[in-house]
Amino acid sequence: MARDLIVIGNWKMYKTSREASNYIEHLLSKIEGCKASVFLAVPFTSISSAAASARQAKLEVGAQNMNDARDGAFTGEIAALMLKEAGATFVLLGHSERRRIFGESDAFIHRKVLRALADDLRPVLCVGETLDERSGGETEEVLKRQIETALADVPEEKAGEVILAYEPVWAIGTGKNATPEMAQEVHAFCRACLADLFGKRKAGQISILYGGSVKPENVRSLVSEKDIDGVLVGGAALDPETLAEIIQQCEGI
Ligand code: PEP
Repeated sequence: MARDLIVIGNWKMYKTSREASNYIEHLLSKIEGCKASVFLAVPFTSISSAAASARQAKLEVGAQNMNDARDGAFTGEIAALMLKEAGATFVLLGHSERRRIFGESDAFIHRKVLRALADDLRPVLCVGETLDERSGGETEEVLKRQIETALADVPEEKAGEVILAYEPVWAIGTGKNATPEMAQEVHAFCRACLADLFGKRKAGQISILYGGSVKPENVRSLVSEKDIDGVLVGGAALDPETLAEIIQQCEGI
């Protein structure tokens, strides 16, 4: 089944709203005519300006995190409806930096996925094993737990809204990427987990992206694999020229 090619840039905690507008203008000038769906996960304060700059372009703007509650006394947190009103259409959930640095649990991420879907934001669920888990032969067990917990209770008709991102923790920001064969093996396993949850047909419609030290030089071979439907890019997405090159490489331009 043909799935859209998706490239997501994750800016992490970089770029002010002014820098966001300049970046988007530059990026759009480089990717005119590209067919891939391009998403940018930007800091909360840049969502409005990024969404305004991206208007009319085939560019989605989203957030990197949110709270699971609709609203409430949660100082310093942000709700899905606030993101939506600012112009976000999607949200990254369960990024390994959130799990590792901020102690986010599978159960919390699960509640966020349900909230995002209820409030009409597309969840991009990030999953991945640490180096110790991979060395200990636990990769599949860890991914199965992360996927099954986060996506429990998602109704089948909403499952198509979910994007899954396999991001091995040992590959994020380290310059070490999984080989295409290694990543394909894990993506096929992730798709089998999705099939257990939602059935084979639905699982075949869900995009599974690879993330972890993606660069213009390695992206083409990654997206050539059958179950790799695009990429989630961190460090290399901070420069619009490099992200544009990644998008062009993905499309084989
Ligand atoms: C990320 O932040 O999701 C990521 C994959 O980072 P990097 O591309 O820098 O490894």
